[in-house]
Amino acid sequence: MRQRTQDRALRERASKALPNGVYGHESTALLPDTYPQFFKRAEGAYLWDADDNKYLDFMCAYGPNLLGYGDKRVDEAATAQLALGNAMTGPPPLMIDLAEAFIDMISHADWAMFCKNGTDATTMARTIARAETGKRVILVAEGAYHGAAPWCTPVRAGTLPEDRAFIQTCTYNDVASLEAAVAEAGDDLAGIFAAPFKHDAFIDQALPDPAYAKRARELCDETGAMLIVDDIRAGFRLTRDCSWELVGVRPDLSTWGKCFANGHPISAVLGSERCREGAGAIYATGSFWFAGVPMAAALETLRIIRETDYLEHQIALGEHLRAGLETVAEAEGVSLRQTGPAQMPQILFEDDQDFRKGFAWTSAMLDHGVYMHPWHNMFICAAMTEADIDMTVEAARVCFAQVQADAEKLEPHPVVSAMFGARAAE
Ligand SMILES: *Cc1c(COP(=O)(O)O)cnc(C)c1O
Repeated sequence: MRQRTQDRALRERASKALPNGVYGHESTALLPDTYPQFFKRAEGAYLWDADDNKYLDFMCAYGPNLLGYGDKRVDEAATAQLALGNAMTGPPPLMIDLAEAFIDMISHADWAMFCKNGTDATTMARTIARAETGKRVILVAEGAYHGAAPWCTPVRAGTLPEDRAFIQTCTYNDVASLEAAVAEAGDDLAGIFAAPFKHDAFIDQALPDPAYAKRARELCDETGAMLIVDDIRAGFRLTRDCSWELVGVRPDLSTWGKCFANGHPISAVLGSERCREGAGAIYATGSFWFAGVPMAAALETLRIIRETDYLEHQIALGEHLRAGLETVAEAEGVSLRQTGPAQMPQILFEDDQDFRKGFAWTSAMLDHGVYMHPWHNMFICAAMTEADIDMTVEAARVCFAQVQADAEKLEPHPVVSAMFGARAAE
């Protein structure tokens, strides 16, 4: 096993200086104990942990790394703007260049607003839908992640039932449940949120059923509600437009974040004429929302998205990985469930209710210098190469064999097995 001395010492300090250590999605609390928590450096497709172990990184910072860590083109644009000014008393002119460039790329969009995190964007889209319609109910799919604000956080500690009053749920890809939820909202429906595809943690991913997407559009047209596609995770990883262009459906609002400035902090709400007035009516702002550096990084990232084959490269690598893993898994007698778009892989094991096989396999992969995730979707970045994928597949073969050999001895993760224990007992 790899050395974790520095990481252990940092965790010890973190447990005192931070409440319960590192919080949120980058906490390793729900990962095997072998996972490093702290990283010193990242470059291209690679990460170095606090003990200088190097990993090929299939998490891509949980989404922001699209082109490779430290992409020179993007970071030079950011540095040039930093020399001019970052957070100033008003935005730089390039805010308009960025809005124009973004609107030009996204078919449904006529205007853009920028913020910092995905949660800012989804919360703002929710507020715009209500301001535009004068109605209250927001429909979301059960289990979908739209951010960490009280109205949408998956963990209820510190929130009130009232925070989620008027947030109703339906089942993704289930037209009947969508229709029933819309009927229940009566004439009080403000908006329908939709992930571009089902990419919830712990379960198989599912592509959108075009019938579901089309029905959501129709129901919004019939009721006057706003259709909102939350493209924060999948945006520019499926296509160079809003992801639901792939199923022929145009939303009124879309939310963007994570990767469109290749790791620089910026997110966005894009909207159509249908909700321009609502967007103009709300009070939306933040101390850093008008900072120029992330805008310069975003403008350059959008140029690279338009002008290079980064996307086709990611899809080809994702398909290469999926096929390679399928072959070696079969050879080693392992049944995998690989779901969703190949460039955003979710890799789960059959008959692995409490994820012990997945945990054993991804832990073994870490020892081979590959950082994968046992229950969250992963990402391919454009800095990866075919040789990286071949190395991954070869490591996977060795690690599948190891999991099979150890099958009887695998231990459940204490927290995760408690979460899924009931399911496992069914
Ligand atoms: C990450 C994510 C968010 C929240 O974005 P933050 O930048 O973490 O606030 C919202 N929606 C989806 C689909 C996401 O993946």
